[in-house]
Formats: sequence, structure tokens, C-alpha cells
Amino acid sequence: MSRSVLVTGGNRGIGLAIARAFVDAGDKVAITYRSGEPPEGFLAVKCDITDSEQVEQAYKEIEEAHGPVEVLVANAGVTKDQLLMRMSEEDFTSVLDTNLTGTFRVVKRANRGMLRAKKGRVVLISSVVGLLGSAGQANYAASKAGLVGFARSLARELGSRNITFNVVAPGFVDTAMTQVLTDEQRAGIVSQVPLGRYAQPEEIAATVRFLASDDASYITGAVIPVDGGLGMGH
Ligand code: NDP
Repeated sequence: MSRSVLVTGGNRGIGLAIARAFVDAGDKVAITYRSGEPPEGFLAVKCDITDSEQVEQAYKEIEEAHGPVEVLVANAGVTKDQLLMRMSEEDFTSVLDTNLTGTFRVVKRANRGMLRAKKGRVVLISSVVGLLGSAGQANYAASKAGLVGFARSLARELGSRNITFNVVAPGFVDTAMTQVLTDEQRAGIVSQVPLGRYAQPEEIAATVRFLASDDASYITGAVIPVDGGLGMGH
């Protein structure tokens, strides 16, 4: 059955791989983008998730074209790495505003239609560093850990409405976000990963698609690592 799927930040990186996985499964997929030309093959809506008005507008466009969102993948996220000593309040609040409050904005708006439909699937893209911690990423790690408490609270609040909330925690994935790292940093990371390599975005997408499928009907409030073993035990 073709469902109405929304992937935030689906214009590139992990989000694009997720969006493609849903298209391949026959779903109607909307993606958000902020600037430039979005990729073809999706309903692309312009939306900055730090702006509630833009979120509202994006949902209106999607609902007109595809009907209420049945599967939401909150993937959009940013980093602004800095050691605490040098981290400005703006570095902290802007990352929280995108990664955590931005997710709140899109989840809250999706919830309206899901409550009416008495079903829904929400998958949040966190990170291995949300639980492991990462020097220089206190803002990012706090935002990603926050997603776990957020999802688990909603899993309890809305389980009786047949809406599931799950978290995928990727390790290091080969995208623009990690391409800024130096060769030395990359080698250091890979040496810590039992599988000895970065993930490809499609490997994250496969887990997201599973969590939104009928096969995952009894899974909610879970945090699924897709990290090559990097976060084992956390
Ligand atoms: P990219 O930097 O390649 O893509 C980030 C995406 O988020 C882009 O589509 C970007 O849109 C979007 N985005 C950022 N800020 C906003 C905003 N305010 N409003 C709307 N969209 C926004 O990163 P990845 O694909 O690597 O990351 C995707 C998710 O996966 C993120 O949440 C990230 O934290 C997480 N993750 C990534 C890992 C990695 O190793 N790459 C590891 C663990 C988690 P635009 O193109 O307009 O900028």
C-alpha cells in the first residue's frame, strides 16, 4: 500500500537515501529542502524546520498532494562543533533549535493527522554520539540524546493510538557532514569501529524503512544503533 511519507532534509545525504528507499517501496514521498535545486523524483517542499510557519506551510502542501503524513522521518540536523570553552550560546542553542526543537515542530504537526487516522510511524535520526558523548560536540550530543527522551515519552503518550516512535542512531556515515573531517580524524574514527569502515547512507535507510514497515508493528520506543558496533554497550 502506498503511504504518505515525509523525510525532512531528504534533499541530500542520509535523508536522500531514506527518501529513495521509500520510493523504491512504492510510497508517496515528500522531502524538505532549504535552498538550491532539490533532487527529482519526490514532492519537494521548501522548509526550514527552525520556523514553525514554514513547517505548517510544508504540511499543507504535502497534505494537498499526498494526504496526511503517515510516516514521518525526522532526519534534518546540523553540527556546530566546538570545545565548550569556545562554544558560544548561539552555537549551542542553534543546534538544539534545529536538531531537537525542529524535530518537535515536525512531529507535533504530523501527530494531528496520525491521531485522526489512529495510526502512524515516526522515526527520529539521532546519533551514536547521543549516548557515547563526543569531545567538541556537547551541543550536538545533547540534542541527539534529547531525541531519545522525546521519542520514548511519545511512545508512552501515543502508543494506545497506534503511533510508534523509534530512534535510529547511526555511527559515522559517508556524507557531507563527515567529509569535513581530516584524513587523520577519519582514520581515528575507523580504528574504533569494529566493522572498520564508515556506513553508506543506504545502510541507515534500510533500518528506517524496516521501522516504518508492518514487520516492525510491535516495536516502539526503541533506539536502534546502525553504527558498525561503535556504540556497543551504550
Ligand atoms: P548532511 O549535512 O548531508 O544533511 C543534513 C540535512 O539536514 C540536509 O538535508 C539539510 O538541508 C537538512 N537541514 C539542516 N538544517 C535544517 C533546517 N534548519 N531545516 C531543514 N532542513 C535542515 O547530513 P547527513 O545526511 O549526514 O545527516 C542527516 C542526519 O543524520 C542528521 O540528523 C545527522 O545529525 C544524522 N547523523 C549523521 C551522521 C553522519 O555520520 N553523517 C552520523 C549520525 C547521525 P540543506 O541541504 O537545506 O542544508
